[in-house]
Amino acid sequence: MSELLICNARFIGDEQLYDIRIRHGKIIEIGQFSRMCKEEVKIIDATNQFLLPPFVESHIHLDTALTYGKPFVNHSGGLSEGISIWGQYQRDYLNEEDVELRAKSVIESMIEYGVLYMRSMVDITAYSQVGLHALLKVKEEVKDYFDLQLIAFPQLGLIHGNGVERLKEAISLGVDGISCVPHLENTREEGIKSIQMCFQIAKSEGKALHIFCDETDDADSKFLEVVASLAIEHRLSEQVTVSHINALAYYNESYAQKVISLVKRAHLHVVTAPLISSVVQGRLGEWPKSRGITRVKDLVEAGVNVACAHDDFLSPFYPLGTGSPLQAGYMFIHLAHMTGKDDFDKVLKMLTTNAARLLGLSNYGIDIGHPANLLIFPAKDAHDLLRRQPKPSYVIHNGRIVAQTIPEQTTLTL
Ligand SMILES: [Zn+2]
Repeated sequence: MSELLICNARFIGDEQLYDIRIRHGKIIEIGQFSRMCKEEVKIIDATNQFLLPPFVESHIHLDTALTYGKPFVNHSGGLSEGISIWGQYQRDYLNEEDVELRAKSVIESMIEYGVLYMRSMVDITAYSQVGLHALLKVKEEVKDYFDLQLIAFPQLGLIHGNGVERLKEAISLGVDGISCVPHLENTREEGIKSIQMCFQIAKSEGKALHIFCDETDDADSKFLEVVASLAIEHRLSEQVTVSHINALAYYNESYAQKVISLVKRAHLHVVTAPLISSVVQGRLGEWPKSRGITRVKDLVEAGVNVACAHDDFLSPFYPLGTGSPLQAGYMFIHLAHMTGKDDFDKVLKMLTTNAARLLGLSNYGIDIGHPANLLIFPAKDAHDLLRRQPKPSYVIHNGRIVAQTIPEQTTLTL
């Protein structure tokens, strides 16, 4: 079918009904014309539903996903035990076929929830580059219906071990971007050195930077200012992303304000991952405990681009996860106190357009001339969608329906 017509659909914040005509995979018309359509055209009646561009998962680990409980369950639930279990899994179980099967299963689950774009981390400090080889293969295999970016991520740090060589090898194999984890290096100085090395390599190789930054409850973890300062120095505006930055929530007010304005000036993108952060952060120390996530509201008010990600999925780090971006959004709303009138629309943007911006996606969004990539949701608006978290009725990629869900229906027999 080369033509598809979606009738009577609404856009968020617009009460009017629209028809969308899709031909050869592209949106060619948006307006009110459904009565004029030809009978042989496939029609989706979107009455009482609304349209949304696809969800963009901006931070996940396909190599660790679906390994929960193997070789054993994380008894403490903490991050350090998770890292140690992941090390054992890599040594005893990791092979290309294993990673491929799990990664494809996660991608398929997430397509059902409306994700068509993803940025996945891949640990390159493992015993071998098995995870990277497998995910590069998966990226190629799914490219006709799913856009996957891979970031080389040195879980054990860049300075000690073979992080730098592995990073360079990963670039030669074809990753889209690179990362470092300064707060896990042995000293503050080595943490700074790891960021400097990462910037130099990214700049000379023309790769995106996605840094795991200050993912700790330690108020003295101050690598965010270093990343922002280097992004300004290297003129890498809009090309650097920081994930987590939990320590920002512990800084004193004057220092936090200084750093937030620096982040804005450097045009850094921020990713927050409320599912994992809510259980990993704030575990130590006395009450009152933190809310787990960084100061998102303040970053948003300062004009920083913030995205919300699902992140870990049934892994040694996180025992839950369904692949639903709306579930991450729901958790985020609570932790960030974002229950105000306009907040639901803002949160939906963090799962869609804001995340698309940090992935550098072009032609994203429902517009004439763009690829027909869109979701049709059985919901009234952003508030209703985030409250109930249904699956999309239709997930459409390049004008083709790639997933269809019949909305749940319950009959009461009181
Ligand atoms: Zn992560």
